[in-house]
Amino acid sequence: MSDCLFCKITKKEIPADVVYEDGRLMVFKDIKPSAPVHLLVVPKEHIQSIAHITDNHREVLSDLIYAAKDMAEKQGLSGYKLTFNVGREGGQLVDHLHLHLLGGWGSTVSE
Ligand code: AMP
Ligand code: ZN
Repeated sequence: MSDCLFCKITKKEIPADVVYEDGRLMVFKDIKPSAPVHLLVVPKEHIQSIAHITDNHREVLSDLIYAAKDMAEKQGLSGYKLTFNVGREGGQLVDHLHLHLLGGWGSTVSE
């Protein structure tokens, strides 16, 4: 997808604060963080959203979740939230699948 923001970031056509990358995914800092630690775990393959995944994407999805767990450990997070926003009504603004990793509040989260 030539006009997709996260495709451009994963192809390094647009800079981002990248904290991890391998052949299948990239993890970078959210430009407008909603938590002390806010990372986006993004597959290099263009998939629009969770609503667009197929049976062929099982491995990609497990890669995303495993990478998020790994990043949370590396960041020293003892607890965190993992969120997929799906569709406009679900708060998704960028139409390229991404997993939000949110944490770093210490032990004070009460929600
Ligand atoms: P969503 O609302 O689930 O589609 O999340 C999109 C996220 O991407 C938001 O939290 C934005 O702050 C973040 N974002 C938008 N543009 C950039 C960018 N250029 N670099 C890093 N994060 C971005
Ligand atoms: Zn894309």
